[in-house]
Amino acid sequence: LGSSLQDALKKLVGAGRIDERTVTEVVKDIQRALLQADVNVKLVMQMSSHIKERALKEEVPPGMNPREHVIKIVYHELISIVGRSADIPLKPQTIMMIGLQGSGKTTTTSKLSRYFQRKGMKPAVVCADTFRPGAYQQLKTLCDKLNVPFYGEEDNPDAVGIVERGLAELEKNDVLIVDTAGRHSLEADLIDEMEQIHKVAQPDYTLLVLDGAIGQQASEQARAFNDSVGISGVVISKLDGTAKGGGALSAVSETNSAIAFIGVGETPDDLEKFEPDRFISRLLGMGDIKSLIEKAEETLSEEDIDMEAMMRGRFTLKDMYSQLEAMNKMGPMKQIMQMLPLGGMGAKLSDDAYKVTEDKMKGYRVLMDSMTDEELLNPRLIGSARIRRISLGSGSSPDAVRDLLKYHKMMQNAMKGLRGGKFNMQKMMKKM
Ligand code: GDP
Ligand code: MG
Repeated sequence: LGSSLQDALKKLVGAGRIDERTVTEVVKDIQRALLQADVNVKLVMQMSSHIKERALKEEVPPGMNPREHVIKIVYHELISIVGRSADIPLKPQTIMMIGLQGSGKTTTTSKLSRYFQRKGMKPAVVCADTFRPGAYQQLKTLCDKLNVPFYGEEDNPDAVGIVERGLAELEKNDVLIVDTAGRHSLEADLIDEMEQIHKVAQPDYTLLVLDGAIGQQASEQARAFNDSVGISGVVISKLDGTAKGGGALSAVSETNSAIAFIGVGETPDDLEKFEPDRFISRLLGMGDIKSLIEKAEETLSEEDIDMEAMMRGRFTLKDMYSQLEAMNKMGPMKQIMQMLPLGGMGAKLSDDAYKVTEDKMKGYRVLMDSMTDEELLNPRLIGSARIRRISLGSGSSPDAVRDLLKYHKMMQNAMKGLRGGKFNMQKMMKKM
């Protein structure tokens, strides 16, 4: 998802104003990216129509460029889905784990035990998985390692009875976690069993564990469990891999539930409290967007542009040229201007000024080769006689020379504007 959404957002960098066509195009890319991350189709359609509407209607706030603005909108839409994190209180309670086989229930049970232990509570675990061979041993081993009281009955298929007896036996502990069996798919007997266990356990909290890599089935699973026993929170497991958790996001949206924790590894310590910000940054690949900006920052180093000299007011044709070169390294001029939140500079350069194409750069180079050092350092010396000479020497038209001089003057004025603003380019770019 990261890279394609990033591509989509990059398109906005070049867009001066957000017009309908640009938004439509970017929203299409965002759709594609979210679908790739396993976000449910219906949800993607819903989100993208909100994004489109807002991007077109809302004004870009001052100090923000169109790209940042759309990122914010996308981000906001995602936050509105996963915005709250389910908070499991630190109090005596019963927690029931549900989910398909292999989703990570048992591992999460051990992680939660560890979590509550760390918070000074006394967790205990009941193994109600009578379905999978080895389930008893797996959980018992994990609990023994953590010194967590454990109840199970190996080889007894009566899951409901086990839960009843287990909860009674472990009464003295304060957080009772019931690990249940899954199935490969949503079979009627699984739902039946969950309903019966739920009736007996009367959990304060029913936690659905979803594999972070799960795709479109996530919503269906969540809905089925929610309709039968109700979901009070979601744990997304296996987010230590490449999975982005888009399916789980859909499930949360579908059931109006909230994510409590994420699993980031196989050991009991690999549990993190769900943080909406981080989850969405990951979903959007925001880390990569950040590094793109960092790269731009690097390219615009002092080596390329003598900012200090320009700030002091000396802005020669050579300065202008090397600045254009440096900026071309980063991308088209207009793109750079869009990245700089400078009302001043943007306003001083006309739309034409942004069109510094490679061809134009070559033309400037040729013209500058026909100038003397004196002229390069002090373009004000260049009157009509010199214009004629430069034009003849370079095989260009006098208008081309005038064009270059006009451009230089515009840039110089813009630089003066920057000076007046007393800001620091490096610092400013870091802020973006
Ligand atoms: P259950 O059938 O729902 O109880 O699933 P398990 O807890 O037995 O987990 C199934 C597999 O997924 C096991 O091999 C776990 O080690 C692995 N697993 C569970 N959670 C995570 C996680 O957060 N990260 C990684 N990498 N593996 C996990
Ligand atoms: Mg299990």
